[in-house]
Amino acid sequence: MSNAPPAAAAAAATNFIRNIIDADLAAGKHAQRRWSGKPALAAEQMTGVLDPARIRTRFPPEPNGYLHFGHAKSICLNFGLARDYGGRCHLRFDDTNPEKEEKEYVDSIIDAVHWLGFTWQDDAENNLYFASDYFDAMYASAEYLIESGHAYVDSQSADAMRAHRGTLTQPGKDSPFRTRPRSENLDLFRRMRAGEFADGEHILRAKIDMASPNINLRDPAIYRIRHATHHNTGDAWCVYPMYTFAHPIEDALENITHSICTLEFEDQRPFYDWLLERLAEGGLFQRPLPQQIEFSRLNLSYVVLSKRKLIQLVEEKHVSGWDDPRLPTLVGARRRGYTPEGFYLFAERIGVSKADSLIDYSLLEEAMREVLNEAAERRIAVLDPLKLIIDNYPAGQNEVCHAPNHPLKPELGKRDMPFGRELWIEREDFMEVPSKGYRRLFPGNMARLRYGYVVKCTGCDKDADGRVIAVHCEYLPDSKSGTPGADSYKVKGNLHWVAVATAYAAEVRLYERLFAYPAPGSWREEAAGSSATPTAGDGDGDGDGFERNFLDDLNPDSVKVITAWLEPTLKLARPEERLQFERHGYFVADRIDSKDGAPVFNRTVTLKDSLGKT
Ligand code: ATP
Ligand code: MG
Repeated sequence: MSNAPPAAAAAAATNFIRNIIDADLAAGKHAQRRWSGKPALAAEQMTGVLDPARIRTRFPPEPNGYLHFGHAKSICLNFGLARDYGGRCHLRFDDTNPEKEEKEYVDSIIDAVHWLGFTWQDDAENNLYFASDYFDAMYASAEYLIESGHAYVDSQSADAMRAHRGTLTQPGKDSPFRTRPRSENLDLFRRMRAGEFADGEHILRAKIDMASPNINLRDPAIYRIRHATHHNTGDAWCVYPMYTFAHPIEDALENITHSICTLEFEDQRPFYDWLLERLAEGGLFQRPLPQQIEFSRLNLSYVVLSKRKLIQLVEEKHVSGWDDPRLPTLVGARRRGYTPEGFYLFAERIGVSKADSLIDYSLLEEAMREVLNEAAERRIAVLDPLKLIIDNYPAGQNEVCHAPNHPLKPELGKRDMPFGRELWIEREDFMEVPSKGYRRLFPGNMARLRYGYVVKCTGCDKDADGRVIAVHCEYLPDSKSGTPGADSYKVKGNLHWVAVATAYAAEVRLYERLFAYPAPGSWREEAAGSSATPTAGDGDGDGDGFERNFLDDLNPDSVKVITAWLEPTLKLARPEERLQFERHGYFVADRIDSKDGAPVFNRTVTLKDSLGKT
């Protein structure tokens, strides 16, 4: 089936969008639509067959940045609905703005959607589209609006237009050009297209109602002059459609049934409907028309999900690039070791609604943990090493212990762990003077070396500064795990270790949150000071009305690079292999910096939520 991720999610919980689709399907609302095999105006679509897709959705990114976790929510939603309802989901690049798009972004978006496990292509259809391929249809739509009296060329200055627009409480005023005859409008619009005017000299506006309580219906601009080279159409055009005009037309050309977008577009819906109604009256589009449905965007604590801010973090080099594992981009997530299945689970759990909320980052981490707990094999790593010397173990003796690859999946077998007289253990697994309840190594205490022997601590060596540099112990030869009688030793501490002689010293990156505070850049009492005066919102949609520079909230300790001692099998880890380092968390072999036989590891997520819920 099309659009199916490799591991199809379990039956999805219902939500208000599914209710709308269920009702539409029950009523046969879209059953009569025709599909010519590609996006087209009605005249061509009507020559096609009944649309084989029961519904059509789309994911329409603007190729002006890398996809972030918010986009993942939208991708899981749109492609997931198409999958579950026998429909199709289109990947459409919304590239109608000539100035901003770049090929690098197009490629990265394609990769990211594929990585998440979705596809827009199969034997029957390839639904990858560029909105700039629709400029002819958009231009034809604009001419139709002029000819039918629904649009006019306005020649006021931008200032005058703004002044006449009115406010939330006051109606706007008609432009003196609003009553231009249709023939004059058409002539001017054609000359705009022919390049006779400079940017801003004229603009095409829909003719709706300057007194509408919805400002978006006060004769919105629909086409503007822009002498700019477009990455796809080059210099073919010097007039470009406005986003709010282009988007409904893109949907209608593609036979989209349910056009799902975020809540900011709610006030645009009346214009969306007005425009498509007018164009359907003119026979440009078939009915039923696409329906716009809004849901609340994903807001996640401890990160920023706005392309503008992400671009700033990358360009000002606060991070190493778009794929920095600390960034909430999908390329970053991939390097961090997050899994597509973790994103499905997260999307499922946060659900879809119209209520704005801030989702705690720990929910995303918990979803990743759950998936990795099932999927990741176990390995041993010592991150903060301290030498353990087993004084009664013969030097030069060779021996292996056997460690299970996955406690929940015995079928994955065991692997060999070389043992020896000298081992690396974690520094925190020894205390010269134990604190209350401490069960690991301290002089006189016994603990088990996991998958190995029980040892009794006898003391430690210190350097001149009094710092412990080695711990001494004696092992109990009849206590080896898996041998008869080993269980008769009841010890409370259980330590992991690697043998000094065979351990692999690897670079390991320990990532923490990129920001130190849940809502980066929003006003906080404790940050109030000269540089942190509450100000009006900067209009970027964060919406709390109190904003500081979000960069001030960066966590200065968001990455720690260490050299760790790893069990020797970890030398064989393939790039992007995900593993659990016992007691530490989930790690992934970095897909960029790992060399053959010398992987470096990134910490994906710790085993437990150390920060707790906020
Ligand atoms: P940004 O605000 O980060 O610039 P955008 O909305 O401009 O994002 P687009 O490329 O236009 O980014 O978005 C493509 C699709 O992804 C849109 O349909 C949009 O609704 C959806 N989307 C973007 N951000 C989020 C989010 N935080 N949560 C859910 N969906 C999102
Ligand atoms: Mg956008």
